[in-house]
Amino acid sequence: MPDDTVFRDALRNLDRAFQYADIHPEAIERLKHPKLSIEVTIPVRMDDGQMRIFRGYRVRHDDTRGPGKGGIRFHPEVDLSEVKALAFWMTCKCAVMNLPFGGAKGGVVVNPKELSPLELERLSRGFIQRVADFIGPETDVPAPDIYTNSMIMGWMADEYSKIRRQFTPAVITGKPIPLGGSLGREDATGRGAYYCLKEHEKQRGWHPQDVTVAIQGFGNAGQAIARLLDADGYNLVAVSDSSGGVYRKEGFHVPSLIQAKNERKKLESVYCRDGLCEVIESETLTNEELLELDVDILVPAALGNVITAENAARVRAATLVEVANGPVTPEADAILHEKGVFVIPDILANAGGVTVSYFEWVQNRTGLYWTEAEVHDRLRERVEREYWKIDELAQRHAIDRRAAAYVHALSRIGKALTAQGTEEYFRNGKR
Ligand code: NAD
Repeated sequence: MPDDTVFRDALRNLDRAFQYADIHPEAIERLKHPKLSIEVTIPVRMDDGQMRIFRGYRVRHDDTRGPGKGGIRFHPEVDLSEVKALAFWMTCKCAVMNLPFGGAKGGVVVNPKELSPLELERLSRGFIQRVADFIGPETDVPAPDIYTNSMIMGWMADEYSKIRRQFTPAVITGKPIPLGGSLGREDATGRGAYYCLKEHEKQRGWHPQDVTVAIQGFGNAGQAIARLLDADGYNLVAVSDSSGGVYRKEGFHVPSLIQAKNERKKLESVYCRDGLCEVIESETLTNEELLELDVDILVPAALGNVITAENAARVRAATLVEVANGPVTPEADAILHEKGVFVIPDILANAGGVTVSYFEWVQNRTGLYWTEAEVHDRLRERVEREYWKIDELAQRHAIDRRAAAYVHALSRIGKALTAQGTEEYFRNGKR
């Protein structure tokens, strides 16, 4: 029997939120079972002539409120239970943001860093050949996730269009702009988290220049939030990637840090001008040490399950912004709550990505494209609205923000599910 722990852990949020949400027990039961899970194998001809077989998954958790929506991750440790958990979170995330989508997710077991660009393209197209019957603009709409990017989305949309023999950009979001991508999609996840922090800043009465930040993971989302917070005057003192981290009490020159990471594929404290970068003194630290730094804001923006029962008591940040999906285990969550850490939960904090994906899908279907400023405004408006609704629920029920976010999501999903009738309706003719 495959280990289903990750999915079962994710479902614990359902039971916690159930007592406060306006949702029928039947709806809760339905959400415990993904609508569709498929496992595929993808044979890929490698550059040296060998054939390698890769394993992939696509899960559509629920599509009551609209087509499934969720990214495809390329990672050596992807497994079905994790993909099911991520698909469940997408159902909740889309409901939190009131997007007309359900939840889905996909994954391929691969270390993409070991593949050549051509091998990566063959794998991406091969995955779409396997799942083409299960995705589509009206059924299930993938997007990027860990170690997949806009170019990969472009290949995937192209492969799907070839299979259907019609240009179908709305099948996938996060595409390159010339292939139907939306302006503002690239940094949308980090930007959504940043908009949450701007609302939180009002609650705390913070002045950005007095606030220290540590970010774990310096990819798409981690870099975007770093750049936006830095532009506001926040003090980024620590950052890490898969090879470890750097710490500098006085803060980094963030544009140079981003430039060095992207151009030289190396995380180092530098100051760059006119194409020349000089190293500025900093300390190295491990990913574990970064999580325990005495900072105001901690942003896990890499992998899940990094804050556990083992290290949660040592987290010293006042506010934790979950840009990664599921960075805190349920046991750790209880410890953080006890310590008074203010957690902005993943299904709100990182929902900027799926929200702008929704905007991309709308633009592809209408053929009417928006300016970047329009995208930012519409995103900000939604994030602010849902941030304060969740805050109000948290205060009303005296619960933490994660529970409140689930209450909010489940109430919306519950209404959709029960609109199709419940046991009481069919037995007694009333709801
Ligand atoms: P990415 O691939 O662009 O970046 C991931 C970063 O994490 C890289 O810097 C990598 O070096 C680092 N990393 C990998 N393993 C690590 C480890 N063991 N310790 C520390 N760092 C490690 O991915 P991304 O798109 O920025 O996504 C980051 C997180 O945000 C993921 O959890 C993802 O699910 C979540 N997320 C992303 C989006 C999106 O639109 N990009 C949307 C919602 C949620």
